[in-house]
Amino acid sequence: MKILVINCGSSSLKYQLIDMNDESVIAKGLCERIGIAGSMLTHSPAGKGKVVIEKDMPNHQVAIELVMAALQDADHGVIKSTDEISAIGHRVLHGGMKFYKSIVVNEEVKEVIRECFDLGPLHNPANLMGIEACEAAMPGKPNVAVFDTAFGMNMPAKAYKYAIPEEYYEKYSIRRYGFHGTSHNFVSGEAIKFAGLDPENAKVIVCHLGNGASISASIGGKCVDTSMGLTPLEGLIMGTRSGDLDPAVLQFIMNKEGLDVNQMLNILNKKSGVLGMSGVSSDFRDVGKAADEGNERAAVALDAYFYRVIKYIGAYAAAMNGVDAIAFTAGVGENDKAGRKRICESLTYLGVEIDDEANDIRGEKRIISTPNSKVKVMLLPTNEELAIARDTLALVK
Ligand code: ADP
Repeated sequence: MKILVINCGSSSLKYQLIDMNDESVIAKGLCERIGIAGSMLTHSPAGKGKVVIEKDMPNHQVAIELVMAALQDADHGVIKSTDEISAIGHRVLHGGMKFYKSIVVNEEVKEVIRECFDLGPLHNPANLMGIEACEAAMPGKPNVAVFDTAFGMNMPAKAYKYAIPEEYYEKYSIRRYGFHGTSHNFVSGEAIKFAGLDPENAKVIVCHLGNGASISASIGGKCVDTSMGLTPLEGLIMGTRSGDLDPAVLQFIMNKEGLDVNQMLNILNKKSGVLGMSGVSSDFRDVGKAADEGNERAAVALDAYFYRVIKYIGAYAAAMNGVDAIAFTAGVGENDKAGRKRICESLTYLGVEIDDEANDIRGEKRIISTPNSKVKVMLLPTNEELAIARDTLALVK
């Protein structure tokens, strides 16, 4: 059975065709600059060189048609016809208060995705366009929506409620949702299996440290708390996002600089984080290099970044009254061994003991704590596409 996984952004579309017999990727690719001049499709069939197709893509519908043509192409194609595709799994950012898990798309599901446009203004419209483009290109095939917010919907009220007047929760569903849910769900589940922990009761902290970064606490794979909130702005310091901050800072800066709320939010989302603090880059490698070369602001930005992660791990260990495993994932979590060591060295009070030799690794599943460590610490590469494909398969089988 083959599942097509689609992840649409406002001007991009990523895809993977996965053979669910062995969970191998048959082909993957990316459409860029959809709706903008100079659009192109990069198609990578497994075991063959990648192909770049430069063609006008005025909308997602045309992009999907080009993807389907690339998948069936005589030279670089991997299937004979779309009949070989059993279902399509879509990453959808926001499911609002309705969806606690993935679901087969029907008109009602599309309506909810539409209702959530103001909660996910950049992603939800694109996600819906992707679904409708697949419906048009492959009529009758099941489409499954996999929500980035679904994992966080299992949080208890004490974790998801903001301490603001209740009417805003009732009128507008203002609460903490959490994001990167597909990744946190996948990595926490894999961590339990990999470390041989109790599937019902294991207390796991997942540190998803990429350009966007978030951290979650879960018991038996069910989310207890997670660091992103109503939007992905809350929580950890990120590449360009501020993470947690006193809301009065907004009022102060807006008054002094004569900014409106959209300009202010743009600064907090796109110009803050390690980029804003260091003035160097949003890329952690650049900031690390600058810090190593003596750039004080870059060093402080990284200090603050790791300090925030360490604080959240402490808070989540407290929230669960203990922790059995800590898993690192995403760009920084999977590649930055010095960063992992730096975090773990502040967790000795939890009984964490890191094994330097085991930690000398990138992008590979491995336990990086010593056998004596009271907490199993591991590196676990995330795989959101596979998680989406598995959910899709489970719903259409
Ligand atoms: P996103 O999906 O949120 O864009 P990724 O998970 O792809 O982010 O992570 C990208 C980040 O990972 C970049 O900031 C990059 O600098 C960082 N990264 C990759 N390799 C390393 C490394 N060896 N050391 C530190 N950071 C790294």
